[in-house]
Amino acid sequence: MADILVHGLTQNNLKHVTFRIPKEKITVFTGVSGSGKSSIVFDTIAAESQRQMNATYPAFVRSRLPKYPKPAVDRIDNLTPSVVVDQSPLGGNARSTVGTISGLYASLRLLFSRIGQPYVGTASYFSFNDPNGMCKTCSGLGKITKVDVEAILDLNKSWNEGCVKDSLYRPGSWYWKQYAQSGLFDLNKPIRAYSGEEYNLLLYGSRDGKGEPENPKVTGLYHKYTKTLLNRDIRNKSRHTQEKSQNLVTEMECTDCHGQRLNEAALSCRINGYSIADLCGMELTQLREVLTKITDQTAVVLVQTIIEGLDRMIEIGLPYLHLNRETPSLSGGEAQRLKLVRYMGSSLTGMTYIFDEPSAGMHPRDVYRMNGLLRQLRDKGNTVLVVEHDKDVISIADYVIDVGPGAGQNGGNIVFAGSYPELLQADTLTGRAIRQILPIKETLRQATGSLPIRDACLHNLKHINVDIPLGIMTVVTGVAGSGKSTLISQVFAGQYESSIVMIDQGPITATNRSTPASYLDFFDEIRKLLARESGKPDSLFSFNSAGACPVCGGKGVIVTELAFMDPIVTECEACGGVRYNEKALACTYKEKNIVELLRLTASQALEVFEDAKIRKHLKVMEQVGLSYLTLGQPLNTLSGGERQRIKLAKNLGKKGGIIVMDEPTTGLHLSDIQNLLKLFDLIVSRGNTLVVIEHNLDVMKQADWIIDIGPDGGKNGGEVVFTGTPLEMLRGAKTLTADSLRASCS
Ligand code: ADP
Ligand code: ADP
Ligand code: ZN
Ligand code: ZN
Repeated sequence: MADILVHGLTQNNLKHVTFRIPKEKITVFTGVSGSGKSSIVFDTIAAESQRQMNATYPAFVRSRLPKYPKPAVDRIDNLTPSVVVDQSPLGGNARSTVGTISGLYASLRLLFSRIGQPYVGTASYFSFNDPNGMCKTCSGLGKITKVDVEAILDLNKSWNEGCVKDSLYRPGSWYWKQYAQSGLFDLNKPIRAYSGEEYNLLLYGSRDGKGEPENPKVTGLYHKYTKTLLNRDIRNKSRHTQEKSQNLVTEMECTDCHGQRLNEAALSCRINGYSIADLCGMELTQLREVLTKITDQTAVVLVQTIIEGLDRMIEIGLPYLHLNRETPSLSGGEAQRLKLVRYMGSSLTGMTYIFDEPSAGMHPRDVYRMNGLLRQLRDKGNTVLVVEHDKDVISIADYVIDVGPGAGQNGGNIVFAGSYPELLQADTLTGRAIRQILPIKETLRQATGSLPIRDACLHNLKHINVDIPLGIMTVVTGVAGSGKSTLISQVFAGQYESSIVMIDQGPITATNRSTPASYLDFFDEIRKLLARESGKPDSLFSFNSAGACPVCGGKGVIVTELAFMDPIVTECEACGGVRYNEKALACTYKEKNIVELLRLTASQALEVFEDAKIRKHLKVMEQVGLSYLTLGQPLNTLSGGERQRIKLAKNLGKKGGIIVMDEPTTGLHLSDIQNLLKLFDLIVSRGNTLVVIEHNLDVMKQADWIIDIGPDGGKNGGEVVFTGTPLEMLRGAKTLTADSLRASCS
């Protein structure tokens, strides 16, 4: 099997590197974040393979496929078709469930159409996405949404006083006139004084609340809001509309099917007393048990196939899910594992599978199981490429490619390539970090108090009581699905909402144009510096205002709308995409103009700026492991881990707060984790409380207090199985986490 050969790669920060990747082996790419791993694996291998695959389709199909730019490389030999299995959300909507996405629901439908009693019909009669099977009331969603318009009415006010609490309807506005000039309402009568008929007219446009509208131009507020809020995807709408929707739309279980999504005929059909909805509401382990009891000979092969599918999901650490769980509610790690399972079931071989940190969200016990699946994928004749920081995953590599030595311009070289035993001897950051065994912290801080959680019973939590200590660092542990996020991110954070700062990996609520400089609030300082040097106003250095390129208006691109096709986006020729006009670009600080300043990485910027306030922010970026980001990099291009760390940077100055983080080591190299731990010390020494959900054993070893949730996942979890210091856990605890901790100390 000829190796994949990459000659002269210069994509992003890569320094004209040449290397080989063995086929039908597991190759793990290591290196600090920003060193160039993704540039190799995603921007080069995956992109080029997809690009060449796409080129084989007819033009008509090609125009509908995503476009992959040609990577900056002299030549690549022996590529195979590739599949990227990343942590991007599975997306989909309420109709996409663990069952539909894994294909297991389709198999169950087939099973019911064959041996269900009484016989109903073909498999489509069991689909909630098919008119034959869906509950008519909720169209197969299992829930119904209602608009609560009354929440937006001020009953004490009349139209002239602004009775609709929505700025779109303020007196004199276009919307307001639609109603006020209809002649249907007394504009000076407060809503409270309306008769029943008048009230119906206001809400539904007709006196009886049903029938024909009184005045076709007035649809009634209820219908108006239903149209704008319910029957559209509002995710792309303005923040104003989204917030309005949150306040007005209530979701409830469908009163007809009680959340089971199917019509009566489908629900009455049973196998061994269970309906298909019953099966989809069970945890996978329980579902497996029910299936093994099916004795009907005509279904043996089908049942066996379903059980094999379930076993793969159970093996990869998802036994606690149920098939009816909607995919948008899954975490990034769960989504990735589900995708992996989907490919495990595929009979394709000779593919290249590419994984992005598959250990994210996984307990060491779960990692062990996932490693088994990666090996199986390889043994079926596939090439497996993994970007990973986890020691246990790195250890199963047949071949390791270590990228570095540093990040950004200080990275981009292959500093080591070879077997895992060779890596253990290598003098690289990864080699050194992997050899190091951290001791358990012995001098611990004392809690200054505690916050109680009582009788927590959300999801799988078993009415638990636990105290969260104040003023120290607590690490919350447990296998995937044990209930850590439910306990901390939902119950704890919900109960003490006002005093807690949640620092998660979710999108940063800021505009697309946000950058580290603007998000961390030092862009203004840079503008002031330029203004002072040049004697021009600050506003000249903003592309939203006086500094904007006159041709593109500060967008940097020209968008040409075409009928029936995607618009064509081209770089603005006037400014070359930099958004600023010449007047702004002519001004410099230390011979660098605004664009050049924003292209500096945080560590480069530290050599340029002397201003104390700017330097403070740059040092913070360095502390959270983001020194390789440029000051102007759009925040929407950051990875989940990077987003979490920049949010941490924004909150680092806090004193006396409660900070909650969910797996902050995601995306961090072993050596960066040491820096993160120092940062945690700093945060706690400033009088803050730190609560961290984490699987990383080095983080656990540095905790002042551990709360372990378990004993296992799903309904077998949800209890507090241990609380105490790391040393106490090491010495006496009988939990899965304690086992892993002991293994890592020996
Ligand atoms: P890793 O995967 O090791 O964390 P990356 O390959 O993502 O590192 O990044 C390597 C370097 O290339 C970093 O300096 C990063 O900022 C830069 N980089 C990544 N993507 C792009 C891009 N689309 N355009 C320009 N630079 C990029
Ligand atoms: P952990 O954080 O330890 O991985 P979670 O708190 O995410 O575990 O999950 C605990 C249990 O609650 C699991 O059985 C999981 O399937 C269930 N669960 C979590 N989120 C939801 C949700 N949005 N809807 C239904 N069940 C959920
Ligand atoms: Zn229904
Ligand atoms: Zn321009």
